[in-house]
Amino acid sequence: MKNTNEMEIVFDSCSANERFARVAVASFLTQLNPTVEEVADVKTAVSEAVTNSIIHGYDNEIHKISVRCRICDDKFYVTVRDEGKGIEDVEQAMQPMYTTKPDADRSGMGFSFMEAFMDQVEVESEPGKGTTVRMEKTIGKGRNLWTTQSL
Ligand code: ATP
Ligand code: MG
Repeated sequence: MKNTNEMEIVFDSCSANERFARVAVASFLTQLNPTVEEVADVKTAVSEAVTNSIIHGYDNEIHKISVRCRICDDKFYVTVRDEGKGIEDVEQAMQPMYTTKPDADRSGMGFSFMEAFMDQVEVESEPGKGTTVRMEKTIGKGRNLWTTQSL
C-alpha cells in the first residue's frame, strides 16, 4: 500500500506569512526524512511561489493564498495558489530574468529557482482569475543511490 498524506493551509498574503508557509511545509516534509539540503530546496521554492502571489498576484493587497502538500511514497507535491491578477504569458514569465517589476528590486529569477530546486514545476494561470504553481520533488534520491552502491 502506498504511503500517502496530505495537508492544506490557507493564510493571508502578508509578508510575515512567507516564513510561516515555508516553515509549515518544511515541518510536514520531515516525515519523509529529508536531508538538510532537500528541506532547504523545498523551502526556497515555496518561498518564491508565495512571494510571487503576495507581490505580483495580489499587488501587496491582503487576500488568501493556499498551500497544499501531498506525500505519495517518496514523492513530495506542493501547490501554491492565489486568486489574484494572473499571468498573461506563462512561458515568457518563466524565462530567467524576466520580471514585470524591475524597479522593485526584482531579478526575475523566482521561477528559475523553483525549477532548479524542484524536479518539476508547472504553472497554470488565467488573467483575472489567479495562478496555481504545482511542484514535485522526489525525496531521498541521493540516499537510495548511496545504499545501492554500498551493497
Ligand atoms: P524575483 O522572483 O527574482 O524577485 P520576479 O518575481 O519578477 O523576480 P519570477 O518569480 O521569476 O520573477 O516571476 C516572473 C514574473 O512572473 C513576475 O515578474 C510576474 O510578472 C509574473 N508572476 C509570477 N508569479 C505570479 C503570480 N502569482 N501572479 C501574477 N504574476 C506572477
Ligand atoms: Mg518572484
